[in-house]
Amino acid sequence: MQGGRRTKIIATIGPSSSSVRVLTRMIKAGMRVARLNFSHGTHSQHKSLIRHIRSASHKTGEQVAILQDLQGPKIRVGELPDAGIMLKHGEKIVFRTGVDGYKNNEISVTYDEFHKDVKKGNRIFLNDGRLEATVESVRGRRVHARVKIGGLLTSHKGINIPDSKVSTPAFTKKDHEDLLFGLEQDVDWVALSFVTSEEIILKVRRIISAKCRSLGSVPPKIIVKIERREAVDDIVDILSVADGIMLARGDLGIEIPPEEVPIIQKEFVEICRQAGKPVVVATHMLDSMTDSPRATRAEISDVANAVIDHADGVMLSAESAAGSYPDTAVRTMANVIDETEASRLDDINFYQWHNISDLETSLAQSLHIMAENNQIDMIVSSATFPIARYLNIFRPNVPIVLACPNKSVSRQMLLRAGVYGIVAKDAPATFIHRVEGILRKRKLVSKKDRVAYIVATPSGEIQLTIR
Ligand code: PEP
Repeated sequence: MQGGRRTKIIATIGPSSSSVRVLTRMIKAGMRVARLNFSHGTHSQHKSLIRHIRSASHKTGEQVAILQDLQGPKIRVGELPDAGIMLKHGEKIVFRTGVDGYKNNEISVTYDEFHKDVKKGNRIFLNDGRLEATVESVRGRRVHARVKIGGLLTSHKGINIPDSKVSTPAFTKKDHEDLLFGLEQDVDWVALSFVTSEEIILKVRRIISAKCRSLGSVPPKIIVKIERREAVDDIVDILSVADGIMLARGDLGIEIPPEEVPIIQKEFVEICRQAGKPVVVATHMLDSMTDSPRATRAEISDVANAVIDHADGVMLSAESAAGSYPDTAVRTMANVIDETEASRLDDINFYQWHNISDLETSLAQSLHIMAENNQIDMIVSSATFPIARYLNIFRPNVPIVLACPNKSVSRQMLLRAGVYGIVAKDAPATFIHRVEGILRKRKLVSKKDRVAYIVATPSGEIQLTIR
């Protein structure tokens, strides 16, 4: 583990990565979090994916966290002919609510209030903004529009209507059913889509707590996807109740002008780092690898820049879910992360921190300086003491190992940069001895490694031991 990769790789699992064989290759290449996208697939398909992920994790001996990404109020086109339909520039098209499938050249829309929420002149983006149409009139349940940017439209592609306020609730009936299913499968993180305010996060946390209490399981953490203007404006309040943030740049770059996204990425990663909450940069990172074994130079730079920004995780979407090179995409990301983390550019300038008033931040800063001066090779603490949160500010260049009460908590840690969980009892008197035994047995440290152990006692003492 010495000098291990800090930035975590999250890969979306789909048809091209569903087998234990491919998943095993992806884990070996560096995947630490598997994302299941509940915009697609049935519960029985997800159940089989979860079984395969766990089996590949067992086979490789590497922990892998499962992130359940709930669809949220995503608007989609319905079923279209198998080959899709070609929309031409200047052509008139009709969207229709309240129907299924493609009849009389009308494109069905999954969101029943679509015709009420759009007005003449509003833009309609399709398939991640690749296609665009403008509303010309709304007649009953039919929305008549003219194609501005044409292209091939296939079944279930997403629709964005950035000029309208969507009235559908942020947590749908489908989300609720999917969430209960995910909790029964013991997922580690739940991602909420299209969040616009903190109320919905609190509501989902209540549902999670109640269900996990009845299951006797560990409640998963909640990561909030930032993909609407309202979420950008409300980031401080959202972050105060979320466990982490995902910059869902696909939808965000349609809902707001795309040129705003890079700066929002940099600012939000910084806000999360200082708040000690994990942040993931997502979407289109190695997009061309969906069809090609080599990424473009710009994509390589995008991953490197997310590492330099100090994101906790970088995410693959279609590249690993539906692409032809899922494990090559993971390996490409891993190579970029390793090269970038080895440079000085992703280091935090810790001397700029001189107004620290709390003990925990000072302790984290001291550990960071010791790691920087090669005086320690690893930081170990019990997960009950929130040192990971404070170390997050400084991102020390040594592994951080947290002793967790069970496997679920230790998997949740995998979304944090540089952090790994092991399962060990939190008994202060014997903590160092026991954890040292586990680390040696697993060959995570050698005799010559110096490890900083932080032990918090029930009486409030914090002991730092370096040995
Ligand atoms: C995104 O929009 O960037 C995203 C991650 O969400 P989804 O893949 O669910 O559209």
